[in-house]
Amino acid sequence: MRIGRILPPAASPIGWTNLAFGLRGLTKGNKSRDDFAADLALHYHQRHCFLVSSGKAALTLILKALHQRYPGRDEVLIPAYTCYSVPSAIARAGLKVRLCDIAENSLDFDLSMIDQQTDNKKLLCVIPTHLFGLPADIAGVRSLITDPEVTIVEDAAQAMGGEVHGQQLGALGDVGFFSLGRGKALSTVEGGVILTNDDELAALIRREYETLPEYQLTQHIKLILYAIAINLLMHPWMFWLPKSLPFLKLGETIYDTGFSSKKLTAFQAGLGRHWRNTLAKSKQIRSTHVGDWQTIVTGSLTAKTDGPPQPLIRFPYLLDSPKAALSMLQQSDDAGLGVAISYPDAIHRIPQIADQFAGQDYPNAAAMAQRLVTMPVHRYLTENDMLSIASILR
Ligand SMILES: *Cc1c(COP(=O)(O)O)cnc(C)c1O
Repeated sequence: MRIGRILPPAASPIGWTNLAFGLRGLTKGNKSRDDFAADLALHYHQRHCFLVSSGKAALTLILKALHQRYPGRDEVLIPAYTCYSVPSAIARAGLKVRLCDIAENSLDFDLSMIDQQTDNKKLLCVIPTHLFGLPADIAGVRSLITDPEVTIVEDAAQAMGGEVHGQQLGALGDVGFFSLGRGKALSTVEGGVILTNDDELAALIRREYETLPEYQLTQHIKLILYAIAINLLMHPWMFWLPKSLPFLKLGETIYDTGFSSKKLTAFQAGLGRHWRNTLAKSKQIRSTHVGDWQTIVTGSLTAKTDGPPQPLIRFPYLLDSPKAALSMLQQSDDAGLGVAISYPDAIHRIPQIADQFAGQDYPNAAAMAQRLVTMPVHRYLTENDMLSIASILR
């Protein structure tokens, strides 16, 4: 165990003011949740917004509703390199995972390979994903889908607050979702947001949503204690403590279909009430740090663009070899610098589901899992930290 300053890989601060708003939200009950949903819908120009207990709960709800609309379709096409919560949610909705490789040196679909899958009559939806907040090419996917029954579900779990060509990420698909979990752009401890302008789909989602339970009292109290703990322990001088507690499973990516789906609590809605402010501040810091990384390191996955750099939640960096990535991680760990892997393997190699993909190969996704590391971009990152990380790279 190392005691001392350790950077967390990602840190979305909740803050004591938001915590106070959370407690005030509690006293307002359902109105707190309705207000938060209405505010998000307004901001994103979407007619429907649903608030649930996680991003995977949000995705599960969307998928169940889509399958009710098109019962003959049960396949969901996702990038072969993405968050394990995505295949977990697909399984939870009773549907099948279909994979498409990512393009070389990118985290987005290889569009030339999507093309081979879109005339599949079993295909229910495609899930382009803004990994780390890097905008996926939604328009590109849309141009390849000619079947009006195939839906685009935008996975903006990591991209709340991001924009591309003046359009807001999360509002580009037929339906989209954000995660409000720890380490995402905005956090209410845990949570998920669904946004759509599709009235028919929204009616189906609402029917499912109404059946979701509320948090029980003990779960609710746990959330409040968790919010306090996050405020205290995500600080670099405190982070050694949660990092040394194995039962917290910090930074571990697991495939788990046993999660519960609930309605977001009034407390969480209160935590999120001032999301515009909270997000604006953290966006500014993250965007600045992304710009710094782009000047310090070369050959990254993020192309420099006109205008301000994207407010990523971590800065993805592809090393030349698996060996170089492991060495980078080890040295960062020794120095407490917060460089982390993202997902341990490509989706077709997750042990619990690998047999579904026997004989299939997604080489770019597999290589990405072995060579990708992420650098912190949060407010606790200092110039010294960046220089230390850069010197390890050299
Ligand atoms: C975090 C995440 C999810 C799931 O969100 P949870 O709130 O953790 O359930 C889905 N997709 C991506 C890309 C994510 O990063």
